[in-house]
Parts: sequence; C-alpha cells; structure tokens
Amino acid sequence: MNLVSIVVPCFNEQESLPHFYESVTEIIAPLSQYHWEILFIDDGSRDKTLSIIRDLADKDDRISFVSLSRNFGKENAMLAGFDYVKGDCMVLMDADLQDPPSLIPDMLKYWEEGYDDVYAKRRDRGKESWLRRKLSLLFYWLLDKSTRFDVLKNVGDFRLLDHRCIEALRHLRERERYTKGLFSWIGYRKKEILFDRQDRQYGSTHWNFFQLAGLAIEGLTSFTTAPLRWATYSGILIGFAAMCYLIWTLIKVSIWGDPVAGFPTLICVIVFLGGIQLFSIGVLGEYLGKVFNESKHRPVYLVQEYHCGNKDKLK
Ligand code: UDP
Ligand code: MG
Repeated sequence: MNLVSIVVPCFNEQESLPHFYESVTEIIAPLSQYHWEILFIDDGSRDKTLSIIRDLADKDDRISFVSLSRNFGKENAMLAGFDYVKGDCMVLMDADLQDPPSLIPDMLKYWEEGYDDVYAKRRDRGKESWLRRKLSLLFYWLLDKSTRFDVLKNVGDFRLLDHRCIEALRHLRERERYTKGLFSWIGYRKKEILFDRQDRQYGSTHWNFFQLAGLAIEGLTSFTTAPLRWATYSGILIGFAAMCYLIWTLIKVSIWGDPVAGFPTLICVIVFLGGIQLFSIGVLGEYLGKVFNESKHRPVYLVQEYHCGNKDKLK
C-alpha cells in the first residue's frame, strides 16, 4: 500500500489547526487504499500551535511533526518537510485552509496516472489590490522572459509531489529559497488542476507588501542573472546616446556658433545617470549579497524536536 504524506508548514496557526485537521481527516477517510501521514512543520510558532499539534499526535498516530528551533520562514520550513517526509508522494498545503483539501483525491488520481507534480492553479487571485495584481504580473513576465523553464502564473505551493520530485528538491539546499521556482526548475511530468482559492478564515496572513517585494527580488535573483545584463545594456545605451548628443552639440557650436543652454540639461543628465548608477549598484549588491550568504554554508533550518507517528507503517 502506498503511503501518502500531507506536509503542512505552520506558523502561529492555533485558530486554523483544529479546523484543518477536521477537514483533512474527513477528506482522507474514504481513501483507505492508502496509508496516510500528516507531517506538521512547526516553524517556531509563538502561540499554542505546537501543543495543539502534540495533542493531535497523541490521539492520531498518522500525525508526525517536526518543530524548528525558531521561525525560519515558510520557504525553509518546506525544505524541512522534504527532508522528513516519508511518503511515496506528498501533498504540500497551508494550514489556513486556503488550499482546499477537497482537491487531494483529484491530485491522487493524476498521480496514479503517472504525473509527478500535480499543482493547483488559482482561477482568480481573490481579494487583491489592483497594484498587487499588476506587480505580480510584471514579476512573472520578467521571470518568464529571463529563464529557460516555464514559470507558472497564479500557482502557489499547494501541490502533490512524487517521491522523485521530493528527492530532487532535497538536493536543492540553497539558503535563500524561492521554492515556487524550484518546483519549475526540477521539471518532471506536471499536471495542472484549477481551483478557487478561499480567503483566509482564521488568523491573518504573514506577508506584508515589503516581504512580498523581497520575495519577488529573491525569485528573480535566484533564477536569473539577467538584471546584471540589463545594467550592462542600459550603460551601453546611455553611453551611446550621450556620445550622439555630444557630437550634435559640437556641430551646433562649431558651425552655427550656438550658445548652449547648460544648466537644465546638465541637471537632467546628472540625476538620470545617478538613478541608473544606483540601480545598477543595487542589482550588483543583490547578487553579491547572495554569494555572501551562500558562502557561509549555514544550515537552512535547525530542528528542536521530531516526532514520528506510526513507525510500523512508515518505512
Ligand atoms: N508559514 C510558515 N512560516 C512563516 C510564515 C508562514 O510556516 O514564517 C506558513 C503558515 O502557517 C501557512 C503558510 O505558511 O500555513 C502560508 O502562510 P500565509 O497564509 O500567511 O500566506 P498566504 O496564504 O497569505 O500566502
Ligand atoms: Mg494563507
């Protein structure tokens, strides 16, 4: 019998967890042709999340959990999930029920048909502001244009992964992680299913605008060095334009004796160039910072406690 693991990163999810457990167990109850493992990754929660998980694990031996030594962020918590998961396949989902467990049977159906990565794609992006929508479109466009692999729009982390994918993801141990990109990077046979993402019902989201912008920069700089090339091109382009303008001014002065109006043009040029230069240094710095962080070779996460549910069923 195949073992299916459900992996759930949790950070301060005390309100959601009981509802989550209830709806997941309800969905998996009829699927008795599989063994089940529910692996919670407690990402250093500061509320009662861990003790709720412990209570659930006492009652239900399908539950395992890993508790991290502090809050490492969802991206790192997911790597802990890949490392500790035991299943022949795993379903990765959020604890806040925004990823409907009712999709699990469909995902398993496609897995049985031989797909390795069954990902859930949002039909629409729910209640998001116009700006956030446009920015996310711009981000996906940039990433898509500058990488070799397909970057999927409106796809989150909610997906079923075959053990082949899990094995591959375990090898990708970069410290600054953009897991959505890694799923695309590994390739394998992918299948899309559509769903409507619910709004969060309990607790609140852990993302603010700057964190999202940070994740977008992370995504770009993790998968492409194209921004460095943009900086080079803009340098060449502006240099060329300046050259043309210089020649034109020289001609004007020497042939027509034109007195050149200096100040406004000068200010424009200085400010414009200053902007481009700062941007380029920033881009350079992003990459340099990455090299710095990776070169320290720190572990991606540290584990405080691991509890394995039913050890007999789990190989
Ligand atoms: N999460 C986590 N560590 C963090 C932040 C979030 O493990 O530092 C988990 C969180 O408990 C939830 C999932 O990641 O299960 C998604 O978080 P959230 O709902 O805040 O993100 P959103 O749905 O708004 O993208
Ligand atoms: Mg959420």
